[in-house]
Amino acid sequence: MEIKKNFDLKKYNTFGVEAKAGFFAEINSEQDLIELLNLPEFKENEKLFLGGGSNVLFTKDFDGIVILNKLKGIEIIKESEDFVLVKSMGGEWWKDLVNFAVERGYWGIENLSLVPGTVGATPVQNIGAYGVELKDTLEQVEAYEIKTVSKKIFTNKECEFGYRDSVFKNKLKGQYFISAVVLRLSKKESKNIRYKALQEYLDKNKIEIKNVKDISNAVAEIRRSKLPDPKVLGNAGSFFKNVFVDFKKLEELKKKFPDMPYFEEPADAKAMAGEVKIPAGWLIEKCDWKGKRVGNVGVHEKQALVLVNYGRATGEEIKNLSERIIDSVYQKFGLKLTPEINLI
Ligand SMILES: Cc1cc2nc3c(=O)[nH]c(=O)nc-3n(C[C@H](O)[C@H](O)[C@H](O)COP(=O)(O)OP(=O)(O)OC[C@H]3O[C@@H](n4cnc5c(N)ncnc54)[C@H](O)[C@@H]3O)c2cc1C
Repeated sequence: MEIKKNFDLKKYNTFGVEAKAGFFAEINSEQDLIELLNLPEFKENEKLFLGGGSNVLFTKDFDGIVILNKLKGIEIIKESEDFVLVKSMGGEWWKDLVNFAVERGYWGIENLSLVPGTVGATPVQNIGAYGVELKDTLEQVEAYEIKTVSKKIFTNKECEFGYRDSVFKNKLKGQYFISAVVLRLSKKESKNIRYKALQEYLDKNKIEIKNVKDISNAVAEIRRSKLPDPKVLGNAGSFFKNVFVDFKKLEELKKKFPDMPYFEEPADAKAMAGEVKIPAGWLIEKCDWKGKRVGNVGVHEKQALVLVNYGRATGEEIKNLSERIIDSVYQKFGLKLTPEINLI
């Protein structure tokens, strides 16, 4: 396995910012991974696992070693009349795994169509979209512990999933390399079209859901109309998490801001715990940031949650803009936005 030095990461992050990695290695097999975990370049340096780079912002050069996940393979490992267990290696593109399921008529991840990035990164922030999260279908995660170079199986519960959160983003951050995930998908129709924007789209276009593909296509259409394509305009999707407050706080806020929207969505673990979601995009828009450009960076005109690179932005500039937005939202609403993306 080749270890490259002083490696340019521009093509490896969807923000498209310039950053150099001290060392860079590509993992094409579990054997590669085991070999790498034992090398001095790995042991002696700070480490960063990377998939599609669609949820990271490089704010400066990364002096350590970047490990690119290229582990490939999707297979059905168990099947019954009602369900299938599908195992996907972590370096597969998530969209290819969704297509694998949709083409075969398996239900469960169609609402997550077109979420960019690799399968191995999906448990890290428990990806979610249109009322569905990874945790709803995840059976287990296979991961290598770096310290011991041994494989561990995490059950769904052991992943400690939350809203854009998991044990891999917290307690075990940087300690495990996720090599594969196993999903439990349904062969029986189990559609979830409760999410408001999805429901509205289906109603407006008079679409009757006949199969899993219909949902996947609808979600893809909505996403294409709202989100900038990173190949055209550098971005990493939602920069911030939505804000959760309890009902007491909501009442206070509603007195001051009667038009403030909020949602109780069962797909969000927090909503079940008596909290409601306030869309961060609305808060940002109300602070007049939507569509605003500051030098090389800006807030997307259609989706205020998305920060964009107009071509020559540095990671530092994007971070600075995000801090100004956090400040304005706090000044106006007293609510603290937190980044969803990983700042490196
Ligand atoms: C246009 C756009 C739309 C998006 N829409 C959504 C959305 O709807 N919902 C959503 O949840 N997200 C969304 N995202 C964010 C992103 O797609 C997800 O977070 C995705 O899971 C990131 O995958 P990645 O392979 O690019 O991860 P990377 O950006 O490469 O890595 C993300 C984090 O995971 C860690 N990591 C990566 N691979 C591994 C591994 N094998 N083992 C351990 N740690 C690892 C990294 O170190 C890093 O901390 C969007 C992004 C973009 C650009």
